[in-house]
Amino acid sequence: MRLFRIAAIRQPDAVDSWRAAPIGFSLTEIRILSYASIALFFGVNALGLLIWGSAYFEGFASFAKGQSIALTTAYVIAALLAYHVMHELIHIALHPDRGLSDRTMIGVKAAAFFVIYNGEISKENLLRVVIAPFAVLTPLCALAALAPFSPIFLANMFGLHLSACAGDLLLYRKLKNGPEFAWMWNAYTSAYIK
Ligand SMILES: [Zn+2]
Repeated sequence: MRLFRIAAIRQPDAVDSWRAAPIGFSLTEIRILSYASIALFFGVNALGLLIWGSAYFEGFASFAKGQSIALTTAYVIAALLAYHVMHELIHIALHPDRGLSDRTMIGVKAAAFFVIYNGEISKENLLRVVIAPFAVLTPLCALAALAPFSPIFLANMFGLHLSACAGDLLLYRKLKNGPEFAWMWNAYTSAYIK
């Protein structure tokens, strides 16, 4: 596993047998995803307020009570980080090398982590990699609703999870409905299929 800004291996061997994959996100799609995340944050909290009234904020108030704003903020940031690390680790667990070689690369863009497999991966495996966090963590979020967590915690956890999976779901759909291919090579700024 390695950190990267530019993919280590820019092109597959024997480029001839590969063709460029028209599968990246357009600027419009990136904008829609960003606005959808913000809308989701306000949406889940507005819904919580609508259902539970001012009691909705009590869970957060009792959590923040008696501790400094700095500590409360640190906890929230730690929770956000923990979710994203877990989400990316689930993607990585399904990489062909399980994240144990330099082919698995971790980047940071627009304050979000993402991982790529900088090598050859089958379409079947790629679909599993892309959908895994949604498939694994959605039932866990639903199970957490049975535990005595406060509604504000559950609503924001679910909102965070869905916004983190939005790009994955869009990519999954593109891969499913896009051009036929059996193998993909991802070099981050470009991708190839064959
Ligand atoms: Zn993801």
